[in-house]
Amino acid sequence: MTRVTSFNLFQCSECGQRHVLPNYGSVSGYIPRDFNVSSDSLRVCQRCSSKKPLRNFIPLGVIYKPERDSTPKFLRKIRKILDKNYKGEEPYPSELYPDLDIKPFDAAEYFPPSVMKYYETYGGYPNWYVELRAAQIKER
Ligand SMILES: [Zn+2]
Repeated sequence: MTRVTSFNLFQCSECGQRHVLPNYGSVSGYIPRDFNVSSDSLRVCQRCSSKKPLRNFIPLGVIYKPERDSTPKFLRKIRKILDKNYKGEEPYPSELYPDLDIKPFDAAEYFPPSVMKYYETYGGYPNWYVELRAAQIKER
């Protein structure tokens, strides 16, 4: 099974946008296109569309995947009220930052159709997505 274990955080040297790049702990079956990215690999900032080799992005360290919250979803709100130490489930790194992609951000194509459908039905688009999509609309 191909598994993401952590993410490297990279910041655009031009506009300051932060991005994540997944690290794969184990790979079998298909090889993801982000597997073993070299520092020469060209990447595109999802905010300002500047295209440059990975080494020209500023590395900010590693974010680990959050622990799964074992509290059933319907109990989380109640638990937050009753348990002062309970913070709720931590957001997944890709909910906090866009992927450091090989092509410029396109709101219509960023998520696969099934994921789009989920967000359209249940809401909860990541904040960065809403922001970048608004900027993209303004540009046109
Ligand atoms: Zn940028």
